[in-house]
Amino acid sequence: MRLLALDKRLRPFATRRVAVAGLLLVLALMAVMVALIVLSALDRVATYANYLDENRSRETLVGAVETFEYQLGSTLLDYTAWDDAADMVYVGKDMPWMVSNFGDMTYDSDLFDVAIVLDDGGRPLMAYSDGQPVEGAASGYITPALLGLLEQVRSGKSGPVPQALGFIRTQKGIGAAGVALIRPKSGTFDRPPAERVYLAFIRHLSPPTVKRISDAYVLRGLALVPPSSSSTEVPIIAPTGEEIAALAWTPRAPGDQSREQVESLMTAALVIVAVYCLLLVIIGNSEMRRLRADEANAIKLAQSDRLSGLLNRAGLHQLLEAEVRRGRQTGEDVVLLYLDLDGFKEVNDAYGHATGDRLIRAVAAGLTVLVGKEAGLARIGGDEFGIVLTGPDVLDRALDLASAILSFFDVPLALGDRSVVVGCSIGLCISERGSVDGAELTRRADMAMYSSKDGGRGRWTVYDPKMDEERETRNLLELDLRAAIGRDEIEVVYQPVVDAKTFSLVGVEALARWTRPGFGPVSPDVFIPIAETSGLIDQLGLCVLHRSLEQLKAWPSLKLSVNVSPGQFRDPDFVDHVAAVFEETEIDPSRVVLEMTETYFIQSPDRARQALDRLRKFGLRIALDDFGAGFSSVGYLRQFGFDRMKIDRSLVQALERGHRAVEMLQATVALARSLGIPVTAEGVETEQQAVILRLAGCDQLQGYLFGRPQSPADIDAFMLRPMELRAKAAELAFAASRDHGVLV
Ligand code: C2E
Ligand code: CA
Ligand code: CA
Repeated sequence: MRLLALDKRLRPFATRRVAVAGLLLVLALMAVMVALIVLSALDRVATYANYLDENRSRETLVGAVETFEYQLGSTLLDYTAWDDAADMVYVGKDMPWMVSNFGDMTYDSDLFDVAIVLDDGGRPLMAYSDGQPVEGAASGYITPALLGLLEQVRSGKSGPVPQALGFIRTQKGIGAAGVALIRPKSGTFDRPPAERVYLAFIRHLSPPTVKRISDAYVLRGLALVPPSSSSTEVPIIAPTGEEIAALAWTPRAPGDQSREQVESLMTAALVIVAVYCLLLVIIGNSEMRRLRADEANAIKLAQSDRLSGLLNRAGLHQLLEAEVRRGRQTGEDVVLLYLDLDGFKEVNDAYGHATGDRLIRAVAAGLTVLVGKEAGLARIGGDEFGIVLTGPDVLDRALDLASAILSFFDVPLALGDRSVVVGCSIGLCISERGSVDGAELTRRADMAMYSSKDGGRGRWTVYDPKMDEERETRNLLELDLRAAIGRDEIEVVYQPVVDAKTFSLVGVEALARWTRPGFGPVSPDVFIPIAETSGLIDQLGLCVLHRSLEQLKAWPSLKLSVNVSPGQFRDPDFVDHVAAVFEETEIDPSRVVLEMTETYFIQSPDRARQALDRLRKFGLRIALDDFGAGFSSVGYLRQFGFDRMKIDRSLVQALERGHRAVEMLQATVALARSLGIPVTAEGVETEQQAVILRLAGCDQLQGYLFGRPQSPADIDAFMLRPMELRAKAAELAFAASRDHGVLV
């Protein structure tokens, strides 16, 4: 559960990391996309500008070519629809006139550079090129294409004006050509076809001419080229439809130029975008690193204990799992030591939480030194610590460490101006070559630690599989006990308490008995501790109280002792419950003594005192039970003002061993008596013990010598033999005076 919680605490970091990475990626993508969009927009603008310019240039050039041809046509019209020419050609057949008016005009002329006079059969009467007569048949100019134009005129297909135009290829190159009938400008023309004469002009697209067109129309690099499919040329088409050449120009590409203009700006913008992306990467990186560091910190924080600075339970779990995993690979053993402080709660209750915290810090510091750097140390809970050891001879080292830790706790710990004594119970468990996983290792070490506690604290215990069996047995026992209490199957027996002088019965102690179905009688030393740890003691205690008070009605002359466990005091309503039972049974509380061991008075002195005061106000009396078995401080006697003290049977049985024990007992009883506290001795088995105890000052005795715990019927019978007992008492008194030289 805790580990799940840890995961939950770390989840925001992963989410934030993903968010930051995502955001940065989106920002970078957006920047790149904007850059791409701007670039392609610019490219489109440039391409479109180029396209527009190209179209304009083409239209201009098409116009220029048409104009070129048109100009030739109008020149030809001037020369052929001419009265003088008709006279000179038809009437005078004047060759010199023709030469000077047609042929010579070809010299250095912008309008035409070849002039040919043809008869109706297409034969040349005169042919001039660039001011020079053309020798021979002038077949280099009178091409089939030119003759085609002539044919158009002759056949009248050229329309109302007897003139035909078109581009042709000649020996000189490509040019516009025109053929027209020479005729008077006005009046009728009635020559028979065979006599008709025609004038042909050719205007070549010579390089200077092309250059002039280029300059006039602002078309850069205009040149005559063979026809191709290039988009920056205009075809020159012959009347037959054949593309005989093309005029190509060098595109100005204004788009490219504008692009060049903004290229540096664009480069700058791209650099800025690149820098922006780079910055994003850098920022992202450092943000990621910061997040990762935060996460590492959070993990560390989540795995460490704030008070001691050690690992906490989650941290220990992580460490254990890692070591066990490693052990599985390397074949190394892992040992876990589970520590629980003895008496920490008492220090906390007595001196407050600040002192408790200081104690934890002091213990943590001490353990850190003892454990060294090689091992892992964690604070698992309030006063629980865990130590993880690995490496060679790990169990031996762990046992040495456990002994060292126990010696460390032998010495009182100095906390400021106070010094406190706490102990430590240790459980150990080994995971051989990582064969036991972390959780199970923890459970086993914890169980071994409890075994140390049960065994009397301040010791170490290595886990034994038997502990699991015991735990199981105990669990089953607990189940049966719960059922028995529920069914009111707990019996009560009564042990006689006699007057030390007369040996007459003065009271009884109520003792619980349980016969477990299928198992037989179970000793209270077994089921009472189980009832205490399982919380069943509240019910069980009241049950015994109720029964014995009912029984007491039958014994009006006797007093009753009832045992109360420390655990019952933890129930805040304990006193009320007790009062209710008295009310119900109508027993006078002054007839009853509650017996308590000192453990509770050590653990919670303040609360114990409050509870005692209330019980006493109610009329009950309180005895300190088992004095001499545990800490047995006379200080408690004085502090809590007990009404009676019961000397533990271990002390009584020690009497056999000699004078020192006798003196000890005498001193103890004397002290109690000096405080005005009467003393009962329990576990009296021999007459000799009885004598010594009486001489020491005990006013009541209890033990097998006088009677075992027995049924109410047996107690009834017991009361019928008082005489016999008195005789025994007298006898004993005599024996005592003889042994000790004392007369009673
Ligand atoms: P305890 O209060 O010290 O009770 C006296 C125990 O000593 C009884 O053991 C009794 O049988 C035993 N005993 C009495 N005289 C002699 C003797 O001469 N020699 C020896 N060897 N033993 C003697 P028992 O009945 O087994 O009870 C054990 C303990 O269980 C009690 O010790 C008491 O602490 C606890 N207990 C018993 N009944 C109750 C109960 O109803 N409530 C609570 N809270 N504890 C109980
Ligand atoms: Ca008792
Ligand atoms: Ca006792």
